[in-house]
Amino acid sequence: MSEPIFKPYQQNQLFLLPPSIEELIAENHPVRVVDQIIEKIDIKPLLKLYKGGGTSSYNPKMLLKVLVYAYLKNIYSSRTIEEMTKENIHMMWISGMSKPDHHTINRFRSERLKKVLEEIFSQIVMLLIEAGQLNIKEIYVDGTKIEANANRYSFVWGKSIKRNKARIREQLKELWEYTQKIAEAEQEEEQAEEFEAIEPEKVEEAIKKIDEILKDKPVDKKIKQKINYGKKNWPKNLEKYQEQEQKLGERNSYSKTDDEATFMRMKEDHMKNGQLKAGYNVQISSNNQYIVNYSIHQKPTDTTTLPGHIESYKDKYGQAPEVVVADAGYGSEENYQYLSDNKIEAYVKYNYFEKEQKKTKTDKNPFTTEKLYYNERQDCYYCPMGQPMKNKGQTISRSENNYLRQIRIYQAINCNGCPVRGVCHNQKTNRIIKVSPIGNYLKSKAKERLGSEKGIYYRKKRSIEVEPIFGNIKQNKKFKRFCLRGIEKVKTEFGLIAIAHNLAKFAMAI
Ligand code: SF4
Repeated sequence: MSEPIFKPYQQNQLFLLPPSIEELIAENHPVRVVDQIIEKIDIKPLLKLYKGGGTSSYNPKMLLKVLVYAYLKNIYSSRTIEEMTKENIHMMWISGMSKPDHHTINRFRSERLKKVLEEIFSQIVMLLIEAGQLNIKEIYVDGTKIEANANRYSFVWGKSIKRNKARIREQLKELWEYTQKIAEAEQEEEQAEEFEAIEPEKVEEAIKKIDEILKDKPVDKKIKQKINYGKKNWPKNLEKYQEQEQKLGERNSYSKTDDEATFMRMKEDHMKNGQLKAGYNVQISSNNQYIVNYSIHQKPTDTTTLPGHIESYKDKYGQAPEVVVADAGYGSEENYQYLSDNKIEAYVKYNYFEKEQKKTKTDKNPFTTEKLYYNERQDCYYCPMGQPMKNKGQTISRSENNYLRQIRIYQAINCNGCPVRGVCHNQKTNRIIKVSPIGNYLKSKAKERLGSEKGIYYRKKRSIEVEPIFGNIKQNKKFKRFCLRGIEKVKTEFGLIAIAHNLAKFAMAI
């Protein structure tokens, strides 16, 4: 039997000439793409953030390259990035053997970059355009929710605050009524008190007054306990509620560990228990599966985010996109109007667009408002039985973004005894319909565009544009939770993810 042969293994071998790390980096390695692209960008805005004097700082270009490369390799923790600068040959090459510690890395990421990353991101997108990889004229918009770095049991709910305040108001009222009865029995006169505006100072005063009036009187033990409890807790709790309401703003909830995160339902709910988690609504625009714009929102619904998202695009590129493609989650009157005002060719579906295409039950139902005949000259609709439905006035509704929507109201003259009433409507009165003429017009224009040749092309392409990006970020890059807290820092973190996604894709394309 022959002896096994092993390859030479000499751990402490000396080199005749010192090796260069450069030689160890493959020609087509993504780290070289990160290096070349960041070398080309203008980092003056970043340099402006450094004050002169004092001890020397790490080169910001180096720190930026280190962070982008770490995000490209799915490393998001500053401690692990620090480790990489000491152990990973590619990181050692790109950092020029600098070894910033995790504090430096974190400070740079969460403080300095937050002011300039969007500008850096758009410069990188412009370089990718020059390289013929994408265009920013036609964009596909979609959103996803990403968990915040917050405890899932740290919620504050707007509804609970309202409920707790109402409970204090009720109890205070009861105590006051009781006090008045006692005072009346003792033939003392007390002025009526108003507890609608339930403020800490007013409540403190009121409870003190109640205590004062009842001091030497025979009072039920439970009432005494309630007064003592109120004196100790109500003003303090109301102050806390005031602070919480300020943080909530127009939201329904926030997390105590990251008070800018809102509780929302996540798509990837592995427990499948419908539990809400603190997170952010991330909106992106893409072209050729590159990210061309990103924005972070605190409200869970996509509909309200579109104008803000397009405005952030305009900030980055100085003009609006020419074409916007998005799914039915964005198809509101307000968004159609916004896109039309900005002269953007919109291929944005609305609710029921797919159903209309499939000619389902809704489409065949002759009783829906959309199917009713409208006589413009007489400003009236005709119901399925041919009865005129006259205009009864109009209302204006205001959206979360302050868009004013005009709604006109029409009513049938007499539905009593109509043989089809059971299938036509279930209102107690004669049938009322609410119509938005502007909304209907914008929707009909959207339908026209979506049904055109271009519309069919964009609709087909939409499904392979944004979804693969979210898939890559969440599944391949395992980025399912932000590391930083607060909307500005979260925006920086997503900016790094977006740059890393774009550069990884570019590295594969060249
Ligand atoms: S129920 Fe009223 S609105 Fe409906 S078809 Fe009959 S008359 Fe017209």
